[in-house]
Amino acid sequence: MEPDTIAEQVRMCGACPKMCRHVCPTFFAWRSEAPTPHGRALLMHQEITGTREIDERGVEVLYQCLECSHCLTWCKPEIDIATLVEIKRRDLVKSGQQPEAISRLTGLVKKNHNPFGEEHSKRSDWIKTSNSKGSRVLYFTGCTAAYRETGSAQDTVSLLEHLGYSVEIAPDEWCCGSPLIRTGDVDSGFELAKHNAEVLNRTDVEAILVTCPGCYRTLTSDYSEYGHELNKPVQHISEFLRISLDKLPKGKFDGPITFHDPCHLGRHSGIYDAPREVIAAVSGSSVVEMERNKENAMCCGNGAGLRTMFPDHAKKIGDERIRHAKNVDAQYLVTSCPFCKNMLASQSENEITVLDLPEFVMMAEKVHYDKTD
Ligand code: SF4
Ligand code: SF4
Repeated sequence: MEPDTIAEQVRMCGACPKMCRHVCPTFFAWRSEAPTPHGRALLMHQEITGTREIDERGVEVLYQCLECSHCLTWCKPEIDIATLVEIKRRDLVKSGQQPEAISRLTGLVKKNHNPFGEEHSKRSDWIKTSNSKGSRVLYFTGCTAAYRETGSAQDTVSLLEHLGYSVEIAPDEWCCGSPLIRTGDVDSGFELAKHNAEVLNRTDVEAILVTCPGCYRTLTSDYSEYGHELNKPVQHISEFLRISLDKLPKGKFDGPITFHDPCHLGRHSGIYDAPREVIAAVSGSSVVEMERNKENAMCCGNGAGLRTMFPDHAKKIGDERIRHAKNVDAQYLVTSCPFCKNMLASQSENEITVLDLPEFVMMAEKVHYDKTD
């Protein structure tokens, strides 16, 4: 975005009656004027016009944004606060003003190639592939599935093998770069992108599949934007499964099923129908929608470094999303993102079964399987 456009956008937002504020999850979490779309734009506007510098408190407010883009769906002049915040974070990193927690996150990713500080050599410890002989697809696992949601990773492989594919895992996969790109250290993020693009482009597979929408957006959009083109198609698992609905396992689920739209899959990538069609095909019943769904879905609280910096506020947002699911008496809360699943499951207190999409599909295979289907 050009500097003149940025100045114009934050000026317009600064003069707005703030009609988007009620959907901003960080306004919900803090109940304060600063961590709102308008509050962030005003900070940037004041800096551009020379009336106020961005001090420590300003930096904090800019890092309280989830970059969920929910405000954009309500904004008539289409002010893209998430992108403005992301661009501003790049300046903050360049001038060394980023919060300490973000520097630590960057250090972990650079050292271990994942944001959890886990050993890189253990990245593929979860792998259980068989010698299936079908078409070859590569599963780009992503850090959350590789280290924190290994059940989802294993179910993804089992499901693809059930569908007759031969599944490969990249020999030396690194973090996709999303955590660094979204929090402002794009140079370090694109070192990861360069490495992954070289590794992925050397593989001999028909397609690259991802379950993490953060990885999906980064691989399909950021990599090409910064010249690290991938030489094979990248698909999100929900879209990949959508073309094989009749071959998916079928099962009976006792209780309503609802779906949480991940921000990077929905608002950022425009994928809303595919996971719902997969759930309907597998369970035989449509998703019971939460009050906030699709373009209006509330973020789970995990985005853009918020959980790293403000875990209690991030969990408060996750709690609220669980409350939305309980409001529709959901027995199952399905999402299509290991990172959202991780947050929502940790806040569900086992009152609702929270599943990533491949886990949900494989649950149909394991439980209540009707052999006459
Ligand atoms: S993001 Fe849009 S709707 Fe929200 S305060 Fe700014 S201009 Fe108004
Ligand atoms: S992107 Fe999300 S968290 Fe950030 S200001 Fe907009 S609604 Fe709030």
